[in-house]
Amino acid sequence: MRVCVLGAGIVGLATAWQLLQEGHDVTVVDRAGAGAGASGANGAQLSYAYVQPLADPGIWAQLPRLLLAKDSPLALRPQWDVDQWRWGIRFLAACRTEVSQRGTTQLLALAAESRSAFDALRAAHHLDCDFSATGKLVLYADERSFAAARRQLALQQSLGTQQTAVSAAEALAIEPALQHHRSRIAGAIHTPGECAADCYKVCQALLRLLQANGARTVFSANVSGVVVRAGRAVAVETDTDAIDADAFVVALGSASSRLARSLGLYLPVYPLKGYSITLPASGTAAPRVNVTDAARKVVFARIGQRLRVAGMAELAGDDLSIPSARIGSLVAAAQSVFPGCADFSRYEPWAGLRPATPDGVPVIGPHARGPANLLFNTGHGALGFTLAFGSARRVARMLAAQPHARFSPVAPAPAPCSV
Ligand SMILES: Cc1cc2nc3c(=O)[nH]c(=O)nc-3n(C[C@H](O)[C@H](O)[C@H](O)COP(=O)(O)OP(=O)(O)OC[C@H]3O[C@@H](n4cnc5c(N)ncnc54)[C@H](O)[C@@H]3O)c2cc1C
Repeated sequence: MRVCVLGAGIVGLATAWQLLQEGHDVTVVDRAGAGAGASGANGAQLSYAYVQPLADPGIWAQLPRLLLAKDSPLALRPQWDVDQWRWGIRFLAACRTEVSQRGTTQLLALAAESRSAFDALRAAHHLDCDFSATGKLVLYADERSFAAARRQLALQQSLGTQQTAVSAAEALAIEPALQHHRSRIAGAIHTPGECAADCYKVCQALLRLLQANGARTVFSANVSGVVVRAGRAVAVETDTDAIDADAFVVALGSASSRLARSLGLYLPVYPLKGYSITLPASGTAAPRVNVTDAARKVVFARIGQRLRVAGMAELAGDDLSIPSARIGSLVAAAQSVFPGCADFSRYEPWAGLRPATPDGVPVIGPHARGPANLLFNTGHGALGFTLAFGSARRVARMLAAQPHARFSPVAPAPAPCSV
């Protein structure tokens, strides 16, 4: 089958590779190049066990501080955009225990599938991507948040994840670089099996594999629409050309909903902006283990000789500007948790748009009201790197099976998106 994959982020490239492996004739189209979007300089964490959706009942108590505090990691920048408000209302509706637990269950299953697919890829091909498997510590600054984390831990353990609650002293034994932060740790959750890698390098490695194995790549080509005839997608229009195929996979990240809208379809995917800095790591003062500072919602990951520090979640439309105050917060977080961990005069700032669904569960498959041969693979939010390879397998299975199971994002919020 001729399959055209729209988008060369980690999700599109992983999907293209899976489809190529299964014997399809694959074309990848992107308005820029491989890893140019949210997959560029993300948090670098392969968070297979720590998948709790952002939409959580605990958010209600924190909401006033999160929205009003000047240094808040969460921000709402109101736009003249009905989709922003629609998404926001659905997000709040998803902040319920049963939705969060259902999301956690679905995401854990997808993450497990993704881990085995990425492990198989790395076993078969040498990927130059600064991969490490040193585990992860999520730090809690007070007893209340640590107690809530232990409740989530109990749910995740019941679903088979290997995680434990540890004291500040135990956290320090796992990651000695936390020595200066010890007095501010009430407790931590340790997940020994978590990994890290440079997502951009994985994108570049996939691109090389695709090109070496006969896939066609079309870059600097903006996809502006889909040609539908007799209920089937037959081509995509770009600013230079039309590309026809037997099936299409939309993996345009946060821009996927715009393409859906051009077909009169609503996709509950909205950009959730975040930032990162990448610094040259200094010896033992920089962590080896992935660390999340839960209060600041900042993640730290070691990728080779560099330290990636990432965080923030802003509902701000498509704006990709990088305000110095936001980068300043990341620098301050790094200096506070790991003093001396890097050369702070040489950081690389970055901003990216997570393609987020209200309940944190990606949309995978054809839209209930769209052409059956136009499959979406997007909405992976804060876990796109982690989930990309599992999603890719699911898309491949859907293409092999007829008729496709459809997702229906038109139901009352929260939408039952399929994974
Ligand atoms: C600050 C931050 C930290 C993060 N940390 C982590 C982490 O630690 N672990 C994790 O698993 N995930 C993390 N994520 C999430 C992860 O980066 C995303 O979920 C993932 O990159 C989404 O991949 P994607 O391929 O769907 O989208 P993208 O990477 O955005 O790719 C979409 C592609 O579509 C192209 N495109 C868009 N519109 C068009 C068009 N009209 N025509 C042609 N091409 C188009 C773009 O150029 C882009 O290349 C983080 C994200 C951010 C922002």
